[in-house]
Amino acid sequence: MSDLLTLAGVGRKSANVILLEVYGIANGVAVDTHAKRISNLMGFSSQKEPEKIEQDLIKILPHDLLKDVNHLFVWHGRNTCVARNPKCDVCTVKEFCKSFKNK
Ligand code: SF4
Repeated sequence: MSDLLTLAGVGRKSANVILLEVYGIANGVAVDTHAKRISNLMGFSSQKEPEKIEQDLIKILPHDLLKDVNHLFVWHGRNTCVARNPKCDVCTVKEFCKSFKNK
């Protein structure tokens, strides 16, 4: 991670993707727009900065799930928890969602 962050244009999101997809190392979470939105909606993090959201996710997620979590966020964000019109009525994790409980 520290070596990748020295490269121009590489932040933690890209570095986490490279570490996971190229080297098979999952020590963090690539917080993209889907991970950020869903983490805030579900109540995993109240932070707005990706780096802080990542730290909140690392605290609550079992380490062996880190390799899968970004893919799950992207899949869920593209298919169910879409940005402008989340499909809460068919969401399979709504019982765990802070936003849904507060409706
Ligand atoms: S219940 Fe709605 S807001 Fe919560 S994760 Fe599901 S789709 Fe997103």
